[in-house]
Amino acid sequence: MEDSTSRSTKKKVVAVVGGGLVGALNACFLAKRGFDVEVFETREDIRKAQIVRGRSINLALSHRGRQALRHVGMEEKIVSQGIPMHARMIHSLSGKQSPIPYGKKGQYILSVDRANLNKQLLSEADTYPNTKLNFDHKLHDWSAETGMMTFVRPDGSKVQLKADLIVGCDGAFSATRKQFLRRSRFNYSQTYIPHGYMELTMPPVNGEFAMKPNYLHIWPRNTFMMIALPNLDKTFTCTLFMPFEDFEKIATGDEVIEFFQKYFPDAIPLIGEEALRRDYFRLPAQAMVSVKCSPYHIHDKCVLMGDAAHAVVPFYGQGMNAGFEDCIVFDEVLDRFSEDLGAVLPEYSRVRVPDDHAIADLAMYNYIEMRAHVNSKWFLFRKHVDNVLHFLMPKTIIPLYTMVTFTRTRYHEAVQRWHWQNKVVNRGLLLSATGAAVGGSYLLLKNPPDVNKLLLSVEKIWTRLVTK
Ligand SMILES: Cc1cc2nc3c(=O)[nH]c(=O)nc-3n(C[C@H](O)[C@H](O)[C@H](O)COP(=O)(O)OP(=O)(O)OC[C@H]3O[C@@H](n4cnc5c(N)ncnc54)[C@H](O)[C@@H]3O)c2cc1C
Repeated sequence: MEDSTSRSTKKKVVAVVGGGLVGALNACFLAKRGFDVEVFETREDIRKAQIVRGRSINLALSHRGRQALRHVGMEEKIVSQGIPMHARMIHSLSGKQSPIPYGKKGQYILSVDRANLNKQLLSEADTYPNTKLNFDHKLHDWSAETGMMTFVRPDGSKVQLKADLIVGCDGAFSATRKQFLRRSRFNYSQTYIPHGYMELTMPPVNGEFAMKPNYLHIWPRNTFMMIALPNLDKTFTCTLFMPFEDFEKIATGDEVIEFFQKYFPDAIPLIGEEALRRDYFRLPAQAMVSVKCSPYHIHDKCVLMGDAAHAVVPFYGQGMNAGFEDCIVFDEVLDRFSEDLGAVLPEYSRVRVPDDHAIADLAMYNYIEMRAHVNSKWFLFRKHVDNVLHFLMPKTIIPLYTMVTFTRTRYHEAVQRWHWQNKVVNRGLLLSATGAAVGGSYLLLKNPPDVNKLLLSVEKIWTRLVTK
């Protein structure tokens, strides 16, 4: 890989559309290779802005994202500003809290501040002499034949610029992608889930976190849920995920409190009644969309990455992580094909589409796991069995969450392996249960027990189970 300082005049001009999380990181990757990089971002420079509007205040960074940050020397800096979350903390209706670890001891995900991460990545991109950041440039249109792009400035004026390669990192509602939609053999689907999300703040108590900070707190209520991630200022950002029709049923401050009393009573004193009454109505619930498309490229001219290629619902905490991994994968393919864009772009689509589609499906699945399955004893038992088997046979049985969150196993391979493991483990459990039943019956027949003693033991076990 070339040093960023050895800028060659022959190097191609790469336009990165979108200076969000993935665009800013991608600019670093591409600048590090020595391309002439121009970033075009529709917003003003968020490093100077008073208010930064984003989609979530904080997000969970995990292995794939960290690996990508490591490639551009940013991992330590970002990790030092994150808060480790070692487990989910499940809040029952009665207020009981039960942790479910994310992985083995020492494995954790990090709660990071979205705006700060974006600012740091933009500043890092700015350090490369071969990178130029253009804010207040909204992509209006571009030509797949010439690479000519038209941008609109806030005063309505238009600017035209040409690039050898256009990298569309302009998010779920990508303007770059619009050109793809006009072409034949481009597959595209988008799905809005019936649920929206709303963020609420849980302030510190006496200068300290109101709840244990090193957890991702979850209040699973089957058809909806609330989660809370810690922030460096000792607040928690709580996110309520719920069907829009349920959000709309709550119309007054009293109804908000009534709803929280019914479903999240332990959160009321921590968020504060007044804040709840006020903040619930501050902003309407936001929509969540899942976007799948293929291929990700047009000729050797344009490639889509991040949410522009694959917006996923946020329930696996992988949207940004997958987008960051896109940058590594593209970098690897650039290496393999010596930056021959005519070969690189189709190969990137070939390699990456199945993985991004797999994480989109997994994210949908995990919503049901987070809000409903975690309430099921069978689910918790199976998670426990998987963890024990992983401990005993770390290379053979790897929990799905571990593959997705703590490794760079390709997403679609993780899904295939998960299906295989489920089959093997379920068969093993069935065999063990059958064996135990047959063996038990045999022993009972051979040595008939004292019926009174047996009834007493059954009663004891029953009492222990129901009083737990
Ligand atoms: C509630 C919620 C929670 C989430 N939590 C997590 C999490 O815990 N972990 C995780 O990994 N992911 C999470 N995600 C997903 C994550 O936010 C996205 O995957 C990530 O922001 C994608 O980054 P991006 O740069 O591709 O897109 P974006 O962040 O959307 O950035 C796109 C950029 O392009 C700019 N732009 C748009 N149109 C134009 C245009 N026409 N011209 C120029 N610029 C343009 C925008 O202004 C923006 O700066 C969450 C998402 C939501 C909604």
